[in-house]
Amino acid sequence: MNILLVDDIATNRKLLRVTLEAEGYSTLEATDGVQALQILARETVDAVISDILMPNMDGFCLCHEIRKSEQLHALPFIIYTSTYTSPGDMKLAETVGADKYLTKPAPTATLLDALREVLDAQAAHPAPSAPVVEETYMLQQYSQALVHKLEEKNAELAQANQALKRSNEELQQFAYIASHDLQTPLRNISGFVQLLQSNYAEALDAQANDWIRRAVQSAEQMHKLIRDVLAYSRVDSQALSFQPTSFREVFTDAVAQLETSIRNAGGQVTCDELPTVTGDLPQLVELLQNLIENGLRYHGQEPPHVHVSAEPDGNEWVFSVRDNGIGIAPKHHERIFEMFRRLHNQQEYPGTGIGLAVCRRVVHRHGGRIWVESEAGHGSVFHFTIPERTIDT
Ligand code: ADP
Repeated sequence: MNILLVDDIATNRKLLRVTLEAEGYSTLEATDGVQALQILARETVDAVISDILMPNMDGFCLCHEIRKSEQLHALPFIIYTSTYTSPGDMKLAETVGADKYLTKPAPTATLLDALREVLDAQAAHPAPSAPVVEETYMLQQYSQALVHKLEEKNAELAQANQALKRSNEELQQFAYIASHDLQTPLRNISGFVQLLQSNYAEALDAQANDWIRRAVQSAEQMHKLIRDVLAYSRVDSQALSFQPTSFREVFTDAVAQLETSIRNAGGQVTCDELPTVTGDLPQLVELLQNLIENGLRYHGQEPPHVHVSAEPDGNEWVFSVRDNGIGIAPKHHERIFEMFRRLHNQQEYPGTGIGLAVCRRVVHRHGGRIWVESEAGHGSVFHFTIPERTIDT
């Protein structure tokens, strides 16, 4: 008896070959449906054992082609699969006319029994001379089964999507709670170390005072990190619905928050006329505040000047935040938007590397894009877009 083994994975074919040859069967091998049909056209084969998922032509199509064929339609056909095991797949296998449907890896005895059974059935009822399958009916059944299978896969996808969304929400919740709860002990550490500093500075030597100073600095840095991680997780966890929002108001709020920084830097922050957009006011303030603050912080010899403007472009607004600071070399333009990505150490310019990641997240939530145009030493322009939209979120 000659059995054709169809599987794109060589190890699977080998396993079958060894099993069948030990039982006295001889075997032929094909790596997909197309190759199987070529072999069937020139060799005498008594049964086919085929995988489903294969390149060029899958097992369902191969079976369908065989059942349609004048010469081959009665050839015993066993589907042997590890991936397609749902009720929809079994229905599809039945529809295309497979005699048996086995799930990999099947015990050797099960496999051999199935093979014997289909060969015996074939011997007991020699095939009629014409294909038993009526093509239109067959196609109808086939497409129905395919639709059924698609529905099944869609339901699986929807379920997986739901699970992903849930775990994402949980993770965000976790980030929020963890950062929030870290704040209290940190405040205590920082408070006690500062007490040590103010009450015992005289009693301690220079080395001890230096250590205390460093501890205070580290606590301050950690406080900023926690504050920024919280800001990042708030973009999704504390999002407000979109409302008509005056960007002039966004600008005024952002500048008000930065009053001290502007004064300390001896800087200037100006703007053109700004439009009204549809968005989340506190988040847009945070976005603009981060960009303006960076413009003030990353300055060179000149006192910083940051200018905000907006231009319509098709159905979106393109905002620009321009500064006269140290600039950014083009090779860093993409990466600075990643979380914790910084181009300077804390001594040169202190920071957490989270501000631009927050900006990107806010812009994405509004359906826009953000990018930078800059050269080292020649100032930077951060652009972001906010699409015009009717309120639907
Ligand atoms: P942080 O400023 O806290 O480091 P950001 O995410 O806001 O974090 O910025 C990431 C990095 O991008 C900064 O460390 C800095 O090197 C660079 N950068 C951001 N804004 C500017 C700017 N306006 N001019 C020059 N460099 C900037």
